[in-house]
Amino acid sequence: MNIEIDKITKFFDCGAVLTNISIYIKSGEIVALLGPSGSGKTTLLRIIAGLESHSSGYLRFYGKDVSKLNARDRSVGFVFQNYALFRHMTVLDNISFGMRVLPRHKRPNKQVINNKVMQLLNMVQLKHLAYRYPSQLSGGQKQRVALARSLAIEPKILLLDEPFGALDVQVRKELRRWLRNLHHELKFTGVFVTHDQEEAMEVAHRVVIMNCGNIEQIGTPQDIWCMPATRFVLKFLSEVN
Ligand code: ADP
Repeated sequence: MNIEIDKITKFFDCGAVLTNISIYIKSGEIVALLGPSGSGKTTLLRIIAGLESHSSGYLRFYGKDVSKLNARDRSVGFVFQNYALFRHMTVLDNISFGMRVLPRHKRPNKQVINNKVMQLLNMVQLKHLAYRYPSQLSGGQKQRVALARSLAIEPKILLLDEPFGALDVQVRKELRRWLRNLHHELKFTGVFVTHDQEEAMEVAHRVVIMNCGNIEQIGTPQDIWCMPATRFVLKFLSEVN
């Protein structure tokens, strides 16, 4: 599913936080929104997710105006930094939740749901923890459950907000590998927010560098490293995360 962000502007009471943003994200592409804190990355991701409205401009999925698509046609999965798992549910129930709450006529039967959950648990290698509760898992394991849960509804678009931000370096590295493997297998269109250059460059096909609600540069990691388009990009890249 391709995503067309067409001249999107967003005002909050404090003023414009996104100004005339245009990005075309190809189907199956992973794009990182990279930039310092307050540059508008999360707001843009939330607009793509439909969690926030935009003040002007257009958002299209597959050429169709998003406001005219229902939730199922939008087919968006979301992964938050803080996992947002249900504490009172086991790993298994957390992952199956999205399927269990579908309207009756769209809900798969129990057997199909169980098979799907087992397949996802296998993918993220957490089968042995299926009956544990979130409080009994490490941060990396929780985020793998969150990834599996967001993939259970087979989203065509996966949005991730600083998905590995709360984790230590080694676990972050491991989860990047997970994300790439899952993408290889499932081929979703992915957009993720990060302020970590290494993460953006390693995971994304293209990186969007944002600053104060504007785009400084869009390019492949190699383009950005080899040909920083603006002074800001050069300075940003030279700073250690
Ligand atoms: P980033 O993700 O790059 O850190 P954000 O998108 O979270 O940036 O925020 C961009 C700007 O918008 C910031 O100045 C922030 O304070 C402001 N902002 C974000 N959400 C709201 C809101 N709900 N109401 C008012 N201002 C907001």
